[in-house]
Amino acid sequence: MDCDILIIGAGPAGLSAAIYAGRAGFKTIMLEKIGAGGQMMLTDKIDNYPGFPEGIAGFDLQNKMLLQAKKFGAKLDYGEATQIKKTDDGFCVELKDNKMITAGSVIIAVGASHRTLNVPGEAELASKGVSYCGTCDGPFFRGKKTIVVGGGDSALTEALFIAKFAKEVTIVHRRDRFRAVHSLIKQIEATSNIKTKMNATVEEICGTDSVTGVILKDTLTGEKTDFETDGVFIFTGLLPATSFVPQEILDSQHYIITNEKMETSIPGLYAAGDARSNTFRQVICAAADGATAANYAGEWLEAQRGNAYEK
Ligand code: NAP
Repeated sequence: MDCDILIIGAGPAGLSAAIYAGRAGFKTIMLEKIGAGGQMMLTDKIDNYPGFPEGIAGFDLQNKMLLQAKKFGAKLDYGEATQIKKTDDGFCVELKDNKMITAGSVIIAVGASHRTLNVPGEAELASKGVSYCGTCDGPFFRGKKTIVVGGGDSALTEALFIAKFAKEVTIVHRRDRFRAVHSLIKQIEATSNIKTKMNATVEEICGTDSVTGVILKDTLTGEKTDFETDGVFIFTGLLPATSFVPQEILDSQHYIITNEKMETSIPGLYAAGDARSNTFRQVICAAADGATAANYAGEWLEAQRGNAYEK
């Protein structure tokens, strides 16, 4: 057996699970595709994680969590899970490079990735003005015009960041009111180079070598207009990264169904964070999920090994 607890994904849920599992003495591996941190890494400043009254950069928070997980003995491995198989004594997780990792218990903490608009020009102009990460690409738009598509917390948070560089940011939202929290809406209203275009959708992204504009559609009248812009930042929500997860534990939107102990219906298999069904998708909630999953995965392992905790 390669480890007691394998944690797939090293965002805040996976890192927190690793801290708890490692600290409890379990041999713990975190498996990550590219780098630890998940969506935190795409966030300029997190100002609602308790303990940081001035806010903390997503990168810094992930770094602290990763250091803490490693301090308690958790190991970070790189690879992409393609299948989870139940075995007699636990699980075997197959990876894209044909390697496999065996574990007594598995916690799936893979998070979610961005949704695309699926309009003409989006794929062709990706990285040529079309972006899904304001923190990564905002600085490239210094003095330029950009639009931000979406009306949730991500769209408004990222618009505020991009507005530090861009000459003008226009938030294009398909409805007449934002989904985002009130405090973000207030900040948007107070930022002079952010404008809003409500009841509008992007029908096409135009340009050859780089973005030059978009075609907007008024959702009330159906009228289409050309809108000049150098960049299109898209924040239209999340898709759980659960394509390798057994279908039987997914809901209709492909999120993982768990109970309050983070248990799935497959004994020994747990889930935590944004990939979980019906969760409040915040860093603090993901971290709490991770702690809960690690605690109950540990209890389950001990029970399997005939060494149940005394309550
Ligand atoms: P979200 O809350 O699901 O919002 C997605 C937005 O995109 C909505 O306004 C939605 O419009 C719009 N949209 C969806 N599909 C669209 C399409 N095809 N065309 C145009 N617009 C479309 O996603 P999110 O903002 O990425 O946030 C995800 C989760 O992370 C949320 O739980 C959020 O609270 C959390 N989050 C928290 C923070 C923070 O606390 N600082 C920061 C970022 C994200 P409708 O409103 O009309 O549905």
